[in-house]
Amino acid sequence: MDEIRIRELKVFAYHGVYPRENEQGQDFYINAALRCSTQRAGISDDLEASVSYEEVCELLQREMKAHTWKLLEAAAEHISAVLFAKYALLQELVLEIRKPDAPIDADFASVSVCIRRKRHVAYVAYGANEGDCEQQIEDGIAMLDRDPFCMVARMTKPLKSTPYGGVEQSDFYNGVIELQTVYEPVELLHCLQGIEKAQGRERKEHWGPRTLDLDILLYDDLVYDSRELTIPHPDMMNRDFVMLPLSQLASHVRHPLTGKTIGEMARLPMERHVKA
Ligand code: ATP
Ligand code: CA
Ligand code: CA
Repeated sequence: MDEIRIRELKVFAYHGVYPRENEQGQDFYINAALRCSTQRAGISDDLEASVSYEEVCELLQREMKAHTWKLLEAAAEHISAVLFAKYALLQELVLEIRKPDAPIDADFASVSVCIRRKRHVAYVAYGANEGDCEQQIEDGIAMLDRDPFCMVARMTKPLKSTPYGGVEQSDFYNGVIELQTVYEPVELLHCLQGIEKAQGRERKEHWGPRTLDLDILLYDDLVYDSRELTIPHPDMMNRDFVMLPLSQLASHVRHPLTGKTIGEMARLPMERHVKA
């Protein structure tokens, strides 16, 4: 991919673990590579079609001066989120913050933290069937959109449906969100769990009543399994209340395990999803 690069941008700021760093300040140097297609700007010769490195330099200086972080990791992570939120064109970012005068007892040229971040597309299912469902959904999605690492791109309207799993309970409101996110998968899960909690979720019985449930269905074309997270969501294809709204947003997206598009999967009876 094309890159817009900034090398060794010098900024005086106050980040550091030691109080004297926060009081006296020091020089930091930033290296950034912004990966995005510059072809449209190249063809049109129009700065509006690209990312202005002048504007990015101003943004980097402003953000570095407006906060006092202990860690270079925190400075880099937050600045990365601001860049992804501001520039829709930006797909990947390599950001290094260097600290040549770090007050540690060692002979070194400089220390730095370098992060690599990407804009990911995730599809998240939402559901609620306890309390003021529509309000909890609206508030939960607003919280998600306010998160600096997430942007809600599109969503389906809440659809009412009958419960699943045999537990006696009231109707469900379900839908799907298309999300752009800079979070890695486990961090996204933790963010969603924080929002469920803020909307009054208590984990009781499996498939029992809940004020808000947020499940990751798809995350790019990732296949991932760990103790706390499975992507794609293993049961999504068995649930019409997931597949129907998902196919409204992502009918062309290919499920990484079945190899079929969501549109095809939503139309097929269940047993035909299983690969021969
Ligand atoms: P289901 O996942 O079958 O819809 P549920 O949503 O009712 O069931 P929860 O109690 O909300 O289940 O979540 C149980 C655990 O599932 C969570 O603690 C989480 O770690 C794990 N989990 C695994 N994969 C995912 C995923 N793709 N999205 C959300 N949670 C997941
Ligand atoms: Ca669920
Ligand atoms: Ca869940």
